[in-house]
Amino acid sequence: MDLTELKQIRQYLHKHPELSHKEKKTSEYLRNKISDIEPDFVVKQKSGEGFWARFGKNEKGSIAFRTDIDALPIQEINEFEYKSVNEGVAHKCGHDGHATSMLGFAYNVKKHLQNPVDLIFQAAEETGEGAESWLKDVMMRYFSPEKVFAYHNLPGFPLHSIIVRNDVFTAASVGITIKLFGKTSHAGHPERGVSPALAVADLVTHIEGLPQNERFNEFTLTTVVHALLGEIAFGTAPGYAEVRATLRSYSNDDLKKLQKLCEDFTEEIEKKYGLKTEVSYSEYFPATENNNQCVNIVRKAAQNLNLQIVEREEPFRWSEDFAHFTLKFNGALFGIGSGEKHPQLHNPDYDFPDEILSTAINMFTEIYKLSDTKTC
Ligand SMILES: [Zn+2]
Ligand SMILES: [Zn+2]
Repeated sequence: MDLTELKQIRQYLHKHPELSHKEKKTSEYLRNKISDIEPDFVVKQKSGEGFWARFGKNEKGSIAFRTDIDALPIQEINEFEYKSVNEGVAHKCGHDGHATSMLGFAYNVKKHLQNPVDLIFQAAEETGEGAESWLKDVMMRYFSPEKVFAYHNLPGFPLHSIIVRNDVFTAASVGITIKLFGKTSHAGHPERGVSPALAVADLVTHIEGLPQNERFNEFTLTTVVHALLGEIAFGTAPGYAEVRATLRSYSNDDLKKLQKLCEDFTEEIEKKYGLKTEVSYSEYFPATENNNQCVNIVRKAAQNLNLQIVEREEPFRWSEDFAHFTLKFNGALFGIGSGEKHPQLHNPDYDFPDEILSTAINMFTEIYKLSDTKTC
């Protein structure tokens, strides 16, 4: 498969994006493409749209590579021929490119197969649910790679550069929703109801202040992202409220501590204002903890290909659900630069730079060879 063909595949995927959990056609299209390369088997996830392609027979000792395949609920503003045909949905994180480079890599694997290779096409990355559900799927219980690798394209870094970091690569994060149940009353007689207004004010101040006011081992960040209080009705004092925040840390333990502190404070608020409360979580991403031996393989691969290596001092503040793989297996997530001036991920004008398709394919191929000979 040459680059022109791969570019066409990437642009086809870009034109037909699908949201997390709805990647039915994307998954079908990619499964057909990978079947053309004749892997030993292709297994579709029962509980989602992800799938697993295996080249080679042995079950143990494989090297695994993972790509994501989902798009985002963002309206594309680009005007090129392959712009998204699905209203309000677009590939604004480059998963179209990640998936295409995996296909290109599969061709190389087929030609030069040594150790068995597992290729994971994972759905629902953007909501943080795909990796976990893929790993839990009954069909995937035989998945036991020695090492697992993935990359993300990264705007803001030199084109083709390889961005690496030992230990934590991306932050852990979780969305917290706190619901406050009181009682509405006439706005002239707020004392006859139970208003959650002051509780909302307390919660917002407290949650935003947690990183400064508590002791943590690693960087933590809390961002209140949404609040709702009563209805727009000047005659009624509110009886219901919601506060939503994203909790974030470079350490899984500190994230747990942040969650506990929010829960404890909600309990205090409940007592203080006579409210009922409910706490729930969504979009949980652990921190991606790289195995340093695997990062060394990535470094060596970049050196062999004469690519610029960018050593990242701090972990990235965003999260990646590849973290669920690094919780279970030795692995490494690395970045490939999309160009310093390239539109940022999730921007409406972003588009995966096709120039790095070959960089990604060559990196995966080199990593595979190096992992195989256990050079590092
Ligand atoms: Zn994204
Ligand atoms: Zn992404």
